[in-house]
Amino acid sequence: MRVSRYFLPVLKETPSDAQIVSHRLMLRAGMIRQAAAGIYSWMPLGLRVLQRIEKIVQEEQQRAGHIPLLMPTLQPAALWRESGRYDDYGEEMLRIKDRHGRDLLYGPTNEELITDIFRSHVRSYRDLPLTLYHVQWKFRDEIRPRFGVMRGREFLMKDGYNFDVDRESALHAYNRHMVSYLRTYERMGLKAIPMRADTGPIGGTHSHEFLVLADTGESEVFFDSAISELNLGGRSVDFNNWQECAAIVDEWTQPYARTEETHDPRTFELEVPEERRRSSRGIEVGQIFYFGTKYSEPMGATVAGTDGTQVPVHMGSHGIGVSRLAGAVIEACHDDRGIIWPEAVAPFPVGIINLAPKDDKTSDICERIVRGLESSGIEPLLDDTDERAGAKFATMDLIGLPWRITVGPRGIADGYVELTRRSDGETEKLGPEQVVEKLIDIFRAAGLTN
Ligand code: ATP
Ligand code: MG
Repeated sequence: MRVSRYFLPVLKETPSDAQIVSHRLMLRAGMIRQAAAGIYSWMPLGLRVLQRIEKIVQEEQQRAGHIPLLMPTLQPAALWRESGRYDDYGEEMLRIKDRHGRDLLYGPTNEELITDIFRSHVRSYRDLPLTLYHVQWKFRDEIRPRFGVMRGREFLMKDGYNFDVDRESALHAYNRHMVSYLRTYERMGLKAIPMRADTGPIGGTHSHEFLVLADTGESEVFFDSAISELNLGGRSVDFNNWQECAAIVDEWTQPYARTEETHDPRTFELEVPEERRRSSRGIEVGQIFYFGTKYSEPMGATVAGTDGTQVPVHMGSHGIGVSRLAGAVIEACHDDRGIIWPEAVAPFPVGIINLAPKDDKTSDICERIVRGLESSGIEPLLDDTDERAGAKFATMDLIGLPWRITVGPRGIADGYVELTRRSDGETEKLGPEQVVEKLIDIFRAAGLTN
């Protein structure tokens, strides 16, 4: 992609109404634009990030055996009256009437709709276990939308629902979700810690929230520092193996880690040696629940069990804040010059700065580098505009692409271009062919190209 033909409306000034760094940087980098309070357009650069985040979420859900579908944003109120939540949900639910006076709502979540789909089609325990999920826009009329996409009113969520014949099987689904979520966040370059959480309006007995530590997080969290050392790494996981998933969940849930709602100072002191006790702020990027038959009983979602009698199915629901993650990654990865994208979610993997777009030789080298990268499936962003060099560097730093190649007449005369890593500024002089080879090797090793 060429900057001269792209739509990259970066802002020179820092927007005064944005309180936290991710919101400021997303506005300045031209990733989002507010349409109304808590409602955003995703500009081209922002959309690329959102799509990469969604792709990782999709891949990890499917790896765990979960099946994608797509439910609508608008739902009939009748289903919510059946579960009793139409009145319980309160002011956060956006209620709408259509031209015939029928009550609709913009879905804040989908337990009712999915339960209705399930009860219409599934009859027997033989069709279980089943986990369906979608990635769809939600609306919650938050009283105080703020921090940009972190607390929007309209936001993109992956929400999944498991249906199981009994509690044990549903608890395996719970564990499977926890493992798949850990993999998902790790792939994005994030450390998200599962913390024991309240079940809130969803209900149920088991729940964990996943929190990314950041000073600007809205939740207060308390944890044993041992948990922040854990990682899955390249471990391959058999998601059908109950013991294997349970063992990973044990490993990650044994160290104390709780949000303020479930925090118990006495247990904290008893269980965690003083030097490992931590408290911090955190951003909630996902939550999983097991709630048994809370929806299946009132809504009649039953199956014929092994002995032929009808039993209500055991369910759980599981959410990832896809659009919030774009902000959370920035909160975790930035410096005073701008964003520092982890390679896995960067809008472009490489930026190329052409320091002399009017010079044929310089432009020719840029084109050759672009073609070399593209032939390996790497799409760079080439700044071929007439802007001053300083402005080009500032924009590249602001939008935070992991690698920058700087091409100018002086270097070319000596046979090199410069390759700079955004995270630490480390710079290397390489020939135009070598720079392409080196980047292909790096992305191949990271599994980001063929
Ligand atoms: P919060 O406590 O932050 O209001 P929640 O617990 O109500 O969130 P869930 O129902 O657990 O939210 O939704 C699943 C995920 O969706 C959350 O973990 C969060 O990442 C994301 N999410 C929830 N509300 C918003 C919002 N207003 N804007 C952006 N993302 C959100
Ligand atoms: Mg939650």
